[in-house]
Amino acid sequence: MSSTGTQLATQSSAQVKTKLCAVLVEDNRLDAELILHELRRDGFDVSAQVVQDEAGFTKALLTHRPEVVLADYNLPNWKGMETLDVLRREGLDIPMILVSGALGDVTAVECIKRGATDYVLKDGLARLPEAIRHALREKHERSLRHQVEENLARKVDELARSNADLEQFAYVASHDLQEPLRMVTAYTQLLAERYRGKLDENADKFIGYASEGAQRMQVLIQDLLAFSRVGRNGSVRVSVDCNVVMKDVLLALAPAIRESDAVVTHPQLPSVWADRTQVTQVFQNLIGNALKFRGKEPPKVSVQAEGAGDRWLFSVSDNGIGIAPEYRETIFVVFQRLHARNEYPGNGIGLAICKKIVERHGGKIWVESQAGSGSTFKFTLPDRSAADEETENRKDAEKVMVKA
Ligand code: ADP
Repeated sequence: MSSTGTQLATQSSAQVKTKLCAVLVEDNRLDAELILHELRRDGFDVSAQVVQDEAGFTKALLTHRPEVVLADYNLPNWKGMETLDVLRREGLDIPMILVSGALGDVTAVECIKRGATDYVLKDGLARLPEAIRHALREKHERSLRHQVEENLARKVDELARSNADLEQFAYVASHDLQEPLRMVTAYTQLLAERYRGKLDENADKFIGYASEGAQRMQVLIQDLLAFSRVGRNGSVRVSVDCNVVMKDVLLALAPAIRESDAVVTHPQLPSVWADRTQVTQVFQNLIGNALKFRGKEPPKVSVQAEGAGDRWLFSVSDNGIGIAPEYRETIFVVFQRLHARNEYPGNGIGLAICKKIVERHGGKIWVESQAGSGSTFKFTLPDRSAADEETENRKDAEKVMVKA
């Protein structure tokens, strides 16, 4: 910019007065006047209160409501840095700039570390206006950030609450529906036993439909209850050896493995920090599905694990019927399935339970597959080292509680 341009810019910024409310902690009247003069010269329309001690400062905060505090380092009856204690005590986020004689670099850095926003020398007051503008800009950005964080925290809170409400609703609904449904099932069965062949052919059919429907509903409600029960009574995280889990799962699935002539393989697996029952359920649901949704060949199922930072990435691969890409998300939704029940039995709750369990452990679950060419389900679980972190957090929390 040319020198004329600079001059014009200075003039026009000087014409637009910026209102500024300040408290000066200063015992030297002349210094206070010099500071105010410098600010006015630079375009601030300053309204200031000058105080010399803690009582005066506390009062000025209330009556004057400053946007900035300009404090001398040393006063006869007080110390400028102690304004920070008062501001903290009052819960006020007001920038405090030290305006002082030479302090030395070490002291100046120490003051900034302790919370002073900036440090301006009395014989370099020309820098003060820019220091104030910078401090006010920073404070504005800080409060915007704070607002965004608060909004986010509120949204997370609302979401958690609405999730909890929803879970509570699913639990109560499924739990309370069981009783009347038991009545319907019992009486339709009684009808079937007593009156089969005694009424006309249609009546037999209708009773059959009714009792089939009631039984089906009972299974669905039990599944829904199982889903909403995941983690309801709290989960106990321990170190879980996945080799032991696999042993249990293979034992539970032995009839299906034998019947389908399946081969299930896995290398030495790691230990995870998780709820043992829930992890067993995940492996059992996924391997059970790999056996159920088989193709023409006998099932070949492979379980693998690889390290992924502080977690383990597990995969369960099969050579079954596969899943078309457009269904990769929907299969994890409660009661969503891709086949008629007479083709493949099931209710569509297994993967929803897997997802809930994995996510409650802070992990993710997804599928990689193409229709007709097998599926690989992948999921992550925390490594055993999460235990140390949890212990540390607990210790910290205990320390805080002891202090309180
Ligand atoms: P269910 O097995 O009772 O149907 P799931 O929630 O376990 O319920 O699975 C949902 C759907 O995802 C299944 O109906 C099936 O269409 C699909 N699916 C799950 N696992 C596999 C797999 N290994 N191979 C192919 N399709 C699968």
